[in-house]
Amino acid sequence: MLVILHANTEETAEDYKRTWSHLQGLPEIRLQKHKVQGRGQQLTEIYLIGNTTKINLEEIESLPAVERVVRISHDFRILGRHSQETGSIDFEYNGVRFNQQNFHIFAGLCAVDNPGNVERMMQALQDNGQECTRMGAYKPRTNPYSFQGHGKECLPYVFELAGKYGIKVVAMEVTHEQHIEEIDNCLEKLGQPTGVMLQIGTRNTQNFELLKAVGRQHTYPVLLKRGFGISLNESLNAAEYLASEGNNQVIFCLRGMKTSFNAPHRNMVDFAHLPIVKRLTRMPVCIDPSHSVGTREASPDGILDVLHSTSQGIIAGANMVLVDFHPSPKDALVDGPQALTMEELPKFIEDVSISRNAYMQRVELWSE
Ligand code: PEP
Ligand code: MN
Repeated sequence: MLVILHANTEETAEDYKRTWSHLQGLPEIRLQKHKVQGRGQQLTEIYLIGNTTKINLEEIESLPAVERVVRISHDFRILGRHSQETGSIDFEYNGVRFNQQNFHIFAGLCAVDNPGNVERMMQALQDNGQECTRMGAYKPRTNPYSFQGHGKECLPYVFELAGKYGIKVVAMEVTHEQHIEEIDNCLEKLGQPTGVMLQIGTRNTQNFELLKAVGRQHTYPVLLKRGFGISLNESLNAAEYLASEGNNQVIFCLRGMKTSFNAPHRNMVDFAHLPIVKRLTRMPVCIDPSHSVGTREASPDGILDVLHSTSQGIIAGANMVLVDFHPSPKDALVDGPQALTMEELPKFIEDVSISRNAYMQRVELWSE
């Protein structure tokens, strides 16, 4: 059961104390509190965990600090949508707002290779009005002899250059709990020049100990990739692991599925599942066309498959696109064959905006 308090209820207020103490007195029920910082208002949600069947809804609704009460299903307790009454996850991080309504581009390097390429990327992003990027420092690779990423060695120049070019959020995969500390230490040492969104890769979607560790920290929002070989339900439960540990600032990313029929694409593009994730959960939804499609092949209309897939996701309501770029894809140490080039960035942004406008028009059309 989810108890939503009146907006801006302070914990020091008498109404709050009376409500909390009543809830605490409910037998066999554990309470979990979540704060949702919305635009200009703070919402407090209290989850009643345990056997709630005997609880009288009206009794809880009549408590002084309570706005409304929602009975929720067992699955996706915190991140699930449950009813139209629970709004989208909505948070601001380092000046950038994320929810199920708005939209952001995270274009950048799949893997950081050298400061020169990082700077070229950041400069291009700034020139094109962007304030978010992706930068891979810790790379989980199929082959143990492949380049594994520069790890913590590259963090100082990545963060410094992000700050220099006005980038506010860097999506960065972590594969081990220790990486969070490395990011923390580096950002602190540099005086927080930028922000980081911790990314959990498809190979770690069900690494429960990593999920718990990332969920326990409240400093950074999280981008969780869908597991490429598990059900959607299992991936959504993985997201719930993050929230159950206290971090509900989670964005869910569709990145294609491994099937025997995906060829000639790297993965079977799964962006048709976008509305499903939005319907089942309150998470903003990201698409990763680069890792889904995995090539720079173009169709006869002259448009790359990666761009077609990007449009397909955005026109279905994506809130974020994570996409690989590289100043010289043939020299990229990881995933060069799928990277877009600096010269393609302005047109990519324009193409994205065409699709986003089309989506807005579609919403308008069907709301009449
Ligand atoms: C990535 O985004 O760099 C990545 C490795 O993606 P995925 O985990 O989806 O394969
Ligand atoms: Mn990659």
